[in-house]
Amino acid sequence: MFATSIAGSLPKPEWLAETQKLWPQWKAEGDALRQAKADATLLWIKAQEDAGLDIIGDGEQARQHFVHGFLEQVEGIDFENKVKMGIRNNRYDAMVPQVVTALKLKGRVHAMEAQLLRAHTEKKIKFTLPGPMTIVDTVADRFYGEGNEGRIKMAMAFAELLNQEALALQVDGVDIIQFDEPAFNVYMEEAADWGVKALERAALGLTCTTAVHICYGYGIQANVDWKNTLGHEWRQYEKIFPALAKSSIDQVSLECFHSHVPMDLIALLEGKDVMVGVIDVASDAIETPEEVADTIGEALKFVNKERLFPCTNCGLAPMSREVALKKLEALAKGAALARERM
Ligand SMILES: [Zn+2]
Repeated sequence: MFATSIAGSLPKPEWLAETQKLWPQWKAEGDALRQAKADATLLWIKAQEDAGLDIIGDGEQARQHFVHGFLEQVEGIDFENKVKMGIRNNRYDAMVPQVVTALKLKGRVHAMEAQLLRAHTEKKIKFTLPGPMTIVDTVADRFYGEGNEGRIKMAMAFAELLNQEALALQVDGVDIIQFDEPAFNVYMEEAADWGVKALERAALGLTCTTAVHICYGYGIQANVDWKNTLGHEWRQYEKIFPALAKSSIDQVSLECFHSHVPMDLIALLEGKDVMVGVIDVASDAIETPEEVADTIGEALKFVNKERLFPCTNCGLAPMSREVALKKLEALAKGAALARERM
């Protein structure tokens, strides 16, 4: 009961990449970089186990950014000529690569990390991939055409590639494959209309557990400012949860602690496992076990205990390593306290 996991990313050690950045530069190259990525992955497997987490991830140590890590292995994308694009409905600008021809995978994307993860923990393992709609919102298009029709076509093309990698990750022994879709909270109508369909295409044929993570973004200033414009009650989930409840996806990860999401929206996810965000990633303050257990207690009013999985609100990538470690411990201790209270 209350098996704990992180949403996905963890800070990179300073010998691997620049710290406290969303798009950090690597500190090594070639074989040395490959080794450093593997070393950092191992380090975080051990740290998650020591903290007492139940489901272990790779901490996304081998990818520069959760979307571009995948795109780097896709043929048909021009990384040489990046362009500035407003992403998440112009919440912030990013330098993004451009889709220039039909898309194809160059080969495996995450085999190294997934196999390392499987070889070095006995616990269940979770692996994250960007969702198709979020990819479409983080890349410029010069091939699929204007408007919604072009976006849908490109999303379905990416969904097919994601599906290839997801099926291979399942063979690597991954227990849970999670797609990250922060775009679902930005383009709610499109998400319910075609975003969920693209997600299901990405998860087609998977027999392992499938999940989707929908958040209000990393704890960076642009997101904090955006959240301040969302008002007293954040009801974005209300528009997409009904479509997800009807979908083939098994688990939904959402932001709770310190957010203005009304907890009763969880009831819209009937029949799904719910990964409840109990750790704030926009604050360095370490949650107490009581705070974590209280959030779990609140969520329990709307989801059965067998279906509740405590999680972080989002990835911890831009945080300091020390704070992230303490937050992992707080997550495990809080879940333990919630079990005692039951
Ligand atoms: Zn997130």
